[in-house]
Parts: sequence; C-alpha cells; structure tokens
Amino acid sequence: MAMEISSGWDLVILGSGPGGEAAAMRAVKGGLRVALVDKEAGIGGSCTHLGTIPSKALRHQIRQLVRHHRNPLLHGIIDAPQVQWQQLVARSMEVVQAQVNVRIGHYGRNRVRIFPGFGRLDGPGRVLVEGEDGRQHLLETRNVLIATGSRPYRPDDVDFSHPRVYDSDSLLSMTHTPRHLVIYGAGVIGCEYASIFAGLGVRVDLVNTRQHLLDFLDAEISDALSYHLREQGATIRHGESYARVSTDAQGVTLELESGKTIRADALLWSNGRTGNTQQIGLDTVGLEADGRGHLRVDDSYQTSVEGVYAVGDVIGWPSLASAAYDQGRFCAAGLCGGEHKRVTDVPTGIYTIPGISSVGHTEQELTAKKIPYEVGQAFFRDLARAQITGEQTGMLKLLFHRDTRALLGIHCFGYQATEIVHVGQAIMRQPAPNNTIDYFVETTFNYPTMAEAYRMAAINGINRISR
Ligand SMILES: Cc1cc2nc3c(=O)[nH]c(=O)nc-3n(C[C@H](O)[C@H](O)[C@H](O)COP(=O)(O)OP(=O)(O)OC[C@H]3O[C@@H](n4cnc5c(N)ncnc54)[C@H](O)[C@@H]3O)c2cc1C
Repeated sequence: MAMEISSGWDLVILGSGPGGEAAAMRAVKGGLRVALVDKEAGIGGSCTHLGTIPSKALRHQIRQLVRHHRNPLLHGIIDAPQVQWQQLVARSMEVVQAQVNVRIGHYGRNRVRIFPGFGRLDGPGRVLVEGEDGRQHLLETRNVLIATGSRPYRPDDVDFSHPRVYDSDSLLSMTHTPRHLVIYGAGVIGCEYASIFAGLGVRVDLVNTRQHLLDFLDAEISDALSYHLREQGATIRHGESYARVSTDAQGVTLELESGKTIRADALLWSNGRTGNTQQIGLDTVGLEADGRGHLRVDDSYQTSVEGVYAVGDVIGWPSLASAAYDQGRFCAAGLCGGEHKRVTDVPTGIYTIPGISSVGHTEQELTAKKIPYEVGQAFFRDLARAQITGEQTGMLKLLFHRDTRALLGIHCFGYQATEIVHVGQAIMRQPAPNNTIDYFVETTFNYPTMAEAYRMAAINGINRISR
C-alpha cells in the first residue's frame, strides 16, 4: 500500500495519555499545527483505559459496597461478596467511555488531527505511522513529543499467558472473582488493589519486597496504611522476594526466597513498570533509553536530541497522570515561546481504603535535615462532618517550622484525603510570610466540613509551641 506523506507539522505527538493530550491542547492554543498518533483505537492513554480511571472507578464502587455492608440499616439488602469482579469492571468501563467521549470532543474542537497507528521516529523531523489497516503515513515535523507512557514490567520467568496470572493491565479482563488473591509488589498500585479486593471480600496476601509499605510516606501514615489493610483482612508480608511462580489449572503457587509458599486462586504481579520506548525508532535520531525504558530530559523536557521532547511516564518519576498533564502543558508552552517550567512539588494521592495524600516533607526528612519542626494533628473522629458521614477513620498532620511557622509538610489519610491536601498545599506554596500555619486559625472555614481539620490541627500545633 502506498505511503502518504503529510508535511508542515510543528509538533507530532506519540501517545494520547495525559502528557500527550495536555501538550496537544496547549500547543494548538499557542498557534502550532499539531498531529497526534496513538496505536490504540480509543484515545486517552493507558491512564483512561487501564490505569487511573478504571482503578479509581473500581475503588469508588468498592467503597460504596463496604459502606453499605457496614450500614446496619441496610444489612441483608446487599452483601459485598455477592458482587462479581466483572460487574465492577463493566461499570468502570462506562466511566472510561465517558472520559473517552470528553477527550474526543477536546481534539475535535481544537482541530488536532489524530493519526491512528503505531508511530516511530524515522530520522530527524520524521514520524512513520503504521495503521492497523496497513496504511502508512509519513509525518514531517519541526518537533516530536514522545508521550508513549509505560506498561507493567513482566519478568521472563513468570508465565503471563496463564489464565490465573495477571498484571494491572490484564486484571481488567479477568473473567472470574478469585476467592484468594496474592499480590506481588506492594507499591501504590499493589496497595490500591489490595484494598479493592479486600473490600470485595477476597482473601488477599500482599507481598512487599521492602520492609515498610510505601516507604516514601511519612512513617506514621505508612503504619496507618498497614494497620487498616490488615484490619480489612489482608495479610502483609514484608521484606520478601519471589523465588518461583508455578501455575496449574486451579491456581498459582508463589514460592518466596525465605522458604514460604503462598497458594492462591490468582496472582496479581505488580512489581514495577517499563517505559514504552522499544521499537519507536530512537536509534534513527541517536537517542537511547535507560535500563527501565526511560528517556532523560532537560528543564524544557527536551531529550539530548534537538526537537525531540518527552513527558509523562516515559521520563520516569513521578509517573503520575497528575504530573504528566502538567509536564505536557509546560513542554508545549515552552515550544510556543512561553516560560520553561519543571514539575517538581507533586502531591502523592494514594487511593487505598482509606485514602492517603501528602505534600512536602515527612517527619523522617525533617529530622535528618535537622530542621526544627513541630506537629499539629487533627483526628477525623473529632470532626462533626466525619461523624455525620460515618467516616471517622483518619487524621490530618501538619508539619511546620517552629520559628517561622511555615508549613513544611501535609500528611493526610482517611475520607477525602486526596482532596483535603490541596487546601494546605495552596498555603504551603505561598512565598514567605504568607506560608504560615496561622492562616488556618485566622480564616473562617465552612462548618461542618472535612477542611475544618486544618483549624483543629493548626491549633493543636500552635499550642505545642506556646507551652
Ligand atoms: C493501576 C494504575 C492506577 C493509577 N492510578 C493513578 C492515580 O490515581 N493518579 C495518577 O495521577 N496516576 C495514576 N496512575 C499513573 C498514570 O496512569 C500514568 O502516570 C499516566 O497514564 C501516564 O500518562 P502518559 O501520558 O505518560 O501515558 P499513558 O497514559 O501511558 O498513555 C500512553 C499512550 O501512548 C500510546 N503509545 C505507546 N506507544 C506508542 C507508539 N509507538 N505509537 C503510538 N502510540 C503509542 C499508548 O497506546 C497510550 O495510549 C496509575 C497507573 C496505574 C497502572
């Protein structure tokens, strides 16, 4: 079939995830001629189809089930274990489709041309697109943005073709509800799915290769997560690594280096991700990815090759949709002659049950840096809003400088933690002297709200330094 040549593009983007989409929208608004390439039929990236959106939609449904299950008024009407995995996935896919529709609208309104197909660099200023129908397009462009995302890492000695072995992508196609699931890898995705399955009434074994859960978190919050996962029935095994995974018709056996053996109906492998940089023609422009498939970029998100940029999971940390959006926007703004900005202060948002969110320093970091700080805490059980909603598990912890009273870290777990954190983040980002814990005692907040936790935590903290 003949190849069609399409010239005169200012920017060709590989990948329609949050990084690619945000870059496309910002670039067209800045007057650039933009084309976007995606190998999947549905746009939105793995964020919309496999990662963020389906997992959060699943988690929301499980939370509702758990709440119903705990509500004595509804006892006997609905029982969490009666709900099947496929039903939850089917509902989540409605959200996925709604998101895809919104995104299609963005591309249409902003006149970004979409080329469906696998894109690869084909020398400087050229991108070759191969569609599923065999059609080929050669796009000639001034700039290329690689936003091809990442995929779950699959070690060679684990048989992912076996119907009981899953990763976070293939889990959405699981056609049964396991009674017992072993999750190998207790990073954010492993912990989130441990909460989801435990909430569904599935027996969960969570195998952590490290000594603590999510050890980048403030230690108190990490401990709280371990406690609540255990309370939900999950068994957590820290400091373990696998020796062998064997499969049979009935399930999976995970043998650990420590000599332990865990037998389960299914395995969720959740141990790392790899950047999608294979077969995309990096060598044709003289680029190379590192061992994890990541590309190195400078402050303008340009790789070592002029005119070739990269954003999102493909550049590694923090590998979050939230950050990928901003990286895409900032990269495109730079291409349109705007300011180069780097995404740095990224809040963590962990959608376990209860959820977790934090921004800024942890207590461990402040102690190591010998920064004199104090702690202000509010427990959700004392908040009127939490008592009304029955969401009394959780706390907000503010870390602030004893002398300047500037906020240094915000750590929250419990109901709406991922929303609550942004109130404090807005203050923490203010330049001195506006970044101050006093803001929360001098400002009237709605009542009763979860945000009221800021006032309680600030008073608690200020009392400690006034003694
Ligand atoms: C289970 C799970 C839960 C998550 N939860 C959250 C969360 O709650 N919050 C959060 O902020 N982040 C979350 N993430 C992370 C988030 O999904 C990623 O950080 C985000 O999707 C990265 O966006 P991206 O733009 O880099 O690429 P992606 O979203 O990965 O999209 C990349 C796109 O590029 C396309 N592509 C790849 N190669 C080519 C090629 N050669 N040619 C054409 N197209 C190509 C792919 O088809 C895909 O559409 C989660 C991830 C997972 C797996």
